[in-house]
Amino acid sequence: MEKKYINKPLAFLELPRELPSAQEPETRTKHFGEFLEPFPQEKTVEQSARCMDCGIPFCHSACPLGNDIPAFNEAVYEGNWEKAFHILDKTNNFPEFTGRVCPAPCEKSCVLSIQQSPVSIEHIEKSIIEEAYHKGWVNVKAPKARTGKKVAVIGSGPAGLAAAEQLNEAGHEITIFEKDQKAGGLMRYGIPDFKLEKWVIDRRLSFMVKAGIKFECGKEIGKDISAEDIQANFDAIVLCTGAPVAREMEIPGSGLKGIHKAMEYLTLQNQEIGGETTATGISAKDKKVLVIGGGDTGSDCIGTAHRQEADSVYQITWGLMPPEERKLENPWPEWPMVFETSSSQQEGVERQWNILSKEFIGDEKGNLTGLKVIEIEWETGRKGFNEIEGSERIIPCELALISIGFQKPKRNPLYEAFGISFDEKDLPNFDNYKATESVFVAGDLKRGASLIVWAIQEGREAAAACHDFLSQRSSVLKN
Ligand code: SF4
Repeated sequence: MEKKYINKPLAFLELPRELPSAQEPETRTKHFGEFLEPFPQEKTVEQSARCMDCGIPFCHSACPLGNDIPAFNEAVYEGNWEKAFHILDKTNNFPEFTGRVCPAPCEKSCVLSIQQSPVSIEHIEKSIIEEAYHKGWVNVKAPKARTGKKVAVIGSGPAGLAAAEQLNEAGHEITIFEKDQKAGGLMRYGIPDFKLEKWVIDRRLSFMVKAGIKFECGKEIGKDISAEDIQANFDAIVLCTGAPVAREMEIPGSGLKGIHKAMEYLTLQNQEIGGETTATGISAKDKKVLVIGGGDTGSDCIGTAHRQEADSVYQITWGLMPPEERKLENPWPEWPMVFETSSSQQEGVERQWNILSKEFIGDEKGNLTGLKVIEIEWETGRKGFNEIEGSERIIPCELALISIGFQKPKRNPLYEAFGISFDEKDLPNFDNYKATESVFVAGDLKRGASLIVWAIQEGREAAAACHDFLSQRSSVLKN
């Protein structure tokens, strides 16, 4: 196909990085849906031309999935979207998820980002998969033949879904067990619709069902079905139960009404949008909201609070305010530790760093009215910090959302029932994803809370290890 649009070898000099524009904050906070405006396909092709097809493509090595980014950029530039889709589909089961919510380590390592803005890889990835769905190229990945082996995948987040899809395609009979009412894990219940509308998950699940994967939702292993039953009825088990337990804030006043963990808040909002019944929703409407913690989940709370018509939103973290530009000790292609403002933060928030929470304050009825904090000063090298005398104050708030990360996978009785042991870091002991003779572990359960792209990669790797195990067992039985 004729190469058009622009002079590719020099495109990176001629063209700036461009992304779809977003609805203005006052418009997008009136609804919960995704808010990026349409972007002409010609412009995406132009953006792909910025790729320099580097001799050593750092984007590729930075992607846990090993996506062949220069190759799909070139295919998009050629106008061959179907070829681009097949390149992407080889390594990534769910580009429609990563194209929306991956923090894109590929872009952080893009060689172009040494001097300029990186290639808009994540947007190109999303454009490829959406074009593939539109044109009907996404296929049902049904196996050519069945092996007769049965695998239980427990947990339906990105790791579980990826493991299930890979093992099903290899011919094994797959049943996914999910404790929640619908499949998707944190993608469905933790990520707000304004970042990932849930029809995107449902669309992929419909392909998986057509490929023969069975879903048993609303079934918690160890409660509704015993671990013994699972072991008796399946040849192998892939555990992808995540690291869902949030860290606690152990300061006085934590029992006051109006203090919630971020994931509890986000889940209830997602359940409401998804039409599931909820016991008691948590609403930010007309409240002074305080988000404690500076990560992505904290940002999701900010965006949700705006859409619930919060009176004001304040965010604190005990960490240092990052610099505007990379420091010498944080060179490319490392992950840049620089100041960023998320789309939710752009919608309005007052942010403060170096703040240590001391005590929640409440009224006589037990309702939260504020958080007593103190400013801190970090020692060189972040070895420790000192409280700044006289800097104590109270931040008024009626709703506090705690977003300070997740605990390592808990040592719950389920894992014991499967015979899994844990190391001193509270992570399962394993050898090549294999935690016991027939139980495999992947995703956040295996590595602790991490990125969606790592979860998909782990699901794929665990599936490969499980397939090897089942294949070896088959050949032993035949001999
Ligand atoms: Fe293209 Fe950037 Fe990858 Fe180089 S590092 S091949 S410019 S996407």
